[in-house]
Amino acid sequence: MHDAARAAADLRAMLGADAVLTEANDLARYEDGWRYGKGKALLAVRPGTTEQVSEVMAYCHERGIRVMPQGANTGLVGASNPDASGEMLVLSLERLNKRLEVDAINRTAVVDGGVLLSTLNAALAEHGLMFPIDLGADPTIGGMIATNTGGTRLLKYGDVRYNLQGLEAVLADGTVVEVMNHLRKNNTGLDFKQLFVGTSGAYGVITGAVLQVVPVPRQHATALVGCASGEAVLALLKALEREMADVFTAYEVISANALGPVFKHHEDIRNPYGTAQPPAYTALVELSSTLPGTALNLAEVLEERLGAFLEGESGEGITDIFMGKPEDFWAIRHHISESLRNEGKVLAFDISVPRSRMAAFTDAAVALLAKDYPFVRCCDFGHWGDGGTHLNLVWNEGEAPRPTARIVEELQSRIYELAVRGFDGSYSAEHGVGPHNQRFYDAYTPEPVKAANQALKRHLDPKGLLGTTRLG
Ligand SMILES: Cc1cc2nc3c(=O)[nH]c(=O)nc-3n(C[C@H](O)[C@H](O)[C@H](O)COP(=O)(O)OP(=O)(O)OC[C@H]3O[C@@H](n4cnc5c(N)ncnc54)[C@H](O)[C@@H]3O)c2cc1C
Repeated sequence: MHDAARAAADLRAMLGADAVLTEANDLARYEDGWRYGKGKALLAVRPGTTEQVSEVMAYCHERGIRVMPQGANTGLVGASNPDASGEMLVLSLERLNKRLEVDAINRTAVVDGGVLLSTLNAALAEHGLMFPIDLGADPTIGGMIATNTGGTRLLKYGDVRYNLQGLEAVLADGTVVEVMNHLRKNNTGLDFKQLFVGTSGAYGVITGAVLQVVPVPRQHATALVGCASGEAVLALLKALEREMADVFTAYEVISANALGPVFKHHEDIRNPYGTAQPPAYTALVELSSTLPGTALNLAEVLEERLGAFLEGESGEGITDIFMGKPEDFWAIRHHISESLRNEGKVLAFDISVPRSRMAAFTDAAVALLAKDYPFVRCCDFGHWGDGGTHLNLVWNEGEAPRPTARIVEELQSRIYELAVRGFDGSYSAEHGVGPHNQRFYDAYTPEPVKAANQALKRHLDPKGLLGTTRLG
C-alpha cells in the first residue's frame, strides 16, 4: 500500500501545491471515463513541463507507484482511468500545454503533449493551416498519438500516425527521449516514435510532438445521398473516388436505424426525407478544396456529378440526392451517438473490415442478430470511406431475455469473431486498446507480436508501472 499523504507532500514540494490533487471531489473527473472505465486514484498530479514529468516518473519508479497518463480523458476503451485499487497515480497532462510553435513554410507545428486539438487549430488558423484529424471531441495531442485517432477525414488526410513527424517522451524511470524530427524524409533506421503511436501510453509519457499540418480548405460542398443497400453505398464510393479523388474528403454512412433517432431527439435538425421512410443507408459526401469557388465551384461539381451517377450505372440503388450546407449535414452525423443513448441500452462497436466487404459484413451481422437476438436493433453508422463502422446495438433492457452483462459478453464475442475471423477485420478500428477490449487483443494478436511487446515493455518499463493496457 502506498502512503498517499506522503506522496502528495513529496510531489507538492517538487511541483508546487496546486499541481497535486487528493480530495475525492477533485479526483472524480480523472477517475471516470467518457464511456467505459471507472476507478479510484491514489492522487492526481499535473506537471507543467517535460522536466517535471520526468521528476514525477523518477519518483514513482523509485517507489514502485503505478501511473496512469491522462490527456483530456475522452478515450473510448477505458484506458485513461486508474484501476479500482486506489494505488495508481493519475498523471494528467492538462497543464503541459505551453509549447505551440508553428513553422508555416515547413508546414509543421511543435506542441506540448497536453495541448488540446482546438487550441492547436486556433493557432494554426492564423497561418491558414490546420491539423486535419477531425472528430466530435476535443482531445490532447498526446492522447491522440497514444490512441492513433482516426476521425471523419481519414479518407483524405490519414490518421495521426500518418501526420506525426517527431516526438518527445518520458520513459517510466524518468529518462527523456527526444526524437523531435522536423524532416519529411529521414530514413535513418528504426522510426522510434512509432512505439508510442496507438500503444495507450504503455511505453512512455508523450510530452511533445512535431506534427505535419495542412492548408485549410477554402470551400466545402456536401450532399446526402440515399442508398437502397450497402452494395449501392460501395458502388457510389467507387464512382466518387474514380472521378473526384483529389477533392473527396469524407464519406460517412448512416443506416436508417441510426438516422431516425437523430430527428426524433433533435427537432431543430432538419430531416431531408420529411415524413417519408429513409432508405437503408444515407451517405454524407464531402468535397473540399483550397481553390476559391471562382476557380472551381465544388457545390456545382458535386451536384452535377451525383446527377450523372443517378442516370448511369453507378446510380443503381441511389434513391435520393440532397445538396445542403456542410454544418447542417455534419450536425446530423455528430448527433448520432448521443441520440442513440436515449433509445435504450447501447453496445458500441468500432470495427473495420476491407472496404469491399463492408456491405457483406454488415448484412452478416444483421442476419446474426435477427436470428439469435431479435430484441436488438442494429443502428450502424460510420466511416465507410475508411472501412470503419460503429455497429452500435440498441435494446430495451426491460424486454431482454437475459441480464445485460451476459448479452454484452455474448454479442461482443460473436460480432468481433465475425469481423476478425470472418471478414479479416479489426475489433478496434480507431479507438485503441484498453480494458474494454483487452480480452480481444489477447485473443486476436499473434503470439510473436505479443512476445516482441513483452520485450519492449521489459526494456522501457521494467517494473510495469505505466497504464492498464497489456500489449504483451
Ligand atoms: C464524442 C467523441 C467522438 C470521438 N470520435 C472519434 C473518432 O471519430 N475517431 C477516433 O479515432 N476517435 C474518436 N474518439 C476517441 C478518441 O480516441 C479520443 O477522443 C482521443 O484520441 C483520446 O485523447 P485524450 O487526450 O482524451 O486521451 P485520454 O482519453 O486521456 O487517454 C487515452 C489513452 O491515451 C493515453 N494517454 C493520454 N495522454 C497521453 C500522453 N501524453 N502520453 C502517453 N499516453 C497518453 C492514456 O493513458 C489512454 O491510454 C471520440 C471520442 C469522443 C468522446
